[in-house]
Amino acid sequence: MKRVLITGAAGFLGSHLCDRFIREGYQVIGMDNLLTGNLANIEHLFPLKEFEYYHHDITKFVHVPGKLDYILHFASPASPIDYLKMPIQTLKVGALGTHNMLGVAREKKARILVASTSEVYGDPLEHPQSETYWGNVNPVGPRGVYDEAKRFLEAITMAYHTYHQVDTRIIRIFNTYGPRMRQEDGRVLPAFFSQAIRGEGLTVFGDGSQTRSFCYVDDLVEGIYRLLLSDHTQPVNIGNPDEVTILQFAEEILQLVGNPKAFIDYRPLPVDDPKVRQPDITKARQILGWEPKVPRAEGLKMTYEYFKTVVQP
Ligand code: UDP
Repeated sequence: MKRVLITGAAGFLGSHLCDRFIREGYQVIGMDNLLTGNLANIEHLFPLKEFEYYHHDITKFVHVPGKLDYILHFASPASPIDYLKMPIQTLKVGALGTHNMLGVAREKKARILVASTSEVYGDPLEHPQSETYWGNVNPVGPRGVYDEAKRFLEAITMAYHTYHQVDTRIIRIFNTYGPRMRQEDGRVLPAFFSQAIRGEGLTVFGDGSQTRSFCYVDDLVEGIYRLLLSDHTQPVNIGNPDEVTILQFAEEILQLVGNPKAFIDYRPLPVDDPKVRQPDITKARQILGWEPKVPRAEGLKMTYEYFKTVVQP
């Protein structure tokens, strides 16, 4: 049986990865320090003998007994308000945490896939963003702690690949949504669903003309799975190119929830908020034969079902 270690296992993406790898017949070791993760996301796995959980902060030395075939490194605060609240932890997990996980991969001769982000492109001057674009990041702005941590993650991963022959994969993840996103993490989708269900104002930042491109979590997990099993060691964008303005996104959620008390409530635009974002997924299509399958209307419906169960109207 193949054994996979998943960091950030109790988080949104980590927990969906645990589910997928269990389904594929792997032995899964989930690791988390619950800084932003939630055990409720993986509670259903605890009775399974194929699942083990280690409560651990990976910025400290990491020891895992036994063999490991794969490591999926997904631990990090990932929403803008989380990394504003926890700038040092964000930098540490991207830098020290990644260093430790690469060390484990080297020791165990395991293949490691690390989670990077579209934030490496910053407020992009090229649109859509392909993997060859180097980005437009403000290192000392509020988002710098996340963006630079992830840029460092890519750099140290390539260095371990080149100098220590560690078998590495790098995914650049664009905005992803689905069940188990944290209600209060401040990201646009949990914010809008919570506000719409409660009949409050949907806090559209700026004039809402900034764009994002949202990928349903099952599509993302499929892309991760294929990248892990591929032999491609350069960064690969995974995301849904279907781009939408934040105002239109708010209107779609208003319509779906249909709460007559909810409305659009304009708020100031955060510093360094990227104005546009859309993945160029030519490479993923060519190398992995992957493209997203779930249209936004369908993904939003499935996500609404989840938020109905966690948000009090
Ligand atoms: N946003 C918004 N209202 C909110 C939260 C976010 O209008 O309550 C906007 C935010 O300014 C950004 C976009 O939605 O332009 C996506 O923000 P999010 O925090 O989800 O992630 P980002 O893509 O910026 O990392």
